[in-house]
Amino acid sequence: MTDRYYCPNLPSLGGQVFLSEPEAAHAIRVMRVQTGETITLFDGMGKQSEAVVSRVTRRDCVCDARASESVDRESITSLHLGVALPKPDRCRELVERLTEMGVRSFTPILANRSQRPPTTNLIDKLNRAVVEACKQSGRNRLMEIHEPMRSECLFTNAMFQKSVCWIAHPEVNDHCGIGSSSVEENQWVVAIGPEGGWDDHEVACAIDNGFSPMRLGERILRIETAAIVVAARIIK
Ligand code: SAH
Repeated sequence: MTDRYYCPNLPSLGGQVFLSEPEAAHAIRVMRVQTGETITLFDGMGKQSEAVVSRVTRRDCVCDARASESVDRESITSLHLGVALPKPDRCRELVERLTEMGVRSFTPILANRSQRPPTTNLIDKLNRAVVEACKQSGRNRLMEIHEPMRSECLFTNAMFQKSVCWIAHPEVNDHCGIGSSSVEENQWVVAIGPEGGWDDHEVACAIDNGFSPMRLGERILRIETAAIVVAARIIK
């Protein structure tokens, strides 16, 4: 795969493209791109174009893009993950992994036992991590990061009416795993709780609104591990 750069305004018929500041900096300083080199541009919405670098200065990287084409590397399974974020230094890797694995969208959950809401700065960094993971993995569609949402709002959200909804919770008696559900379904929502776990009110609210409790085994997993295990089990 040629080196890939994110270009949200890809000209559909082709033409001259100036890479954005962070993408140009990556191309020039890290990848040491040269005039005449062929690169791939993707728009984060499913399209990509081959492009030839026509000019490189200290700040700018200009290319001639061919017409864009749809190259779909999405899974047929649509998984939305609501995750009570771990500590900020552990969030980036979580978001990178989930993007590579093809998670469709992601909502940071503000749970009753969450430490503190994510800052705008953290959310910006996570959006950048999505772009990095798409560049590296060949994914042409960005994993969408929604606004942080209170847990109850996620459980009662009309947006998820057509989805199969689960709440990951270690304290369910019967082993209620994904295996027991219909694998034909292709729209899923799974909520992963905070370090301190869901409180009783949240579990009751989720179940009242059609979320089934899901257990991931005998051991208690960290938030990131639980999210990755869920993605690996569900996404085909
Ligand atoms: N002490 C907490 C554990 C929190 S782990 C408790 O006992 O609930 C953080 C989150 O990861 C949990 O809220 C849950 O959503 C998910 N998780 C971790 N291990 C799990 C398991 N074995 N089964 C289901 N969900 C799990």
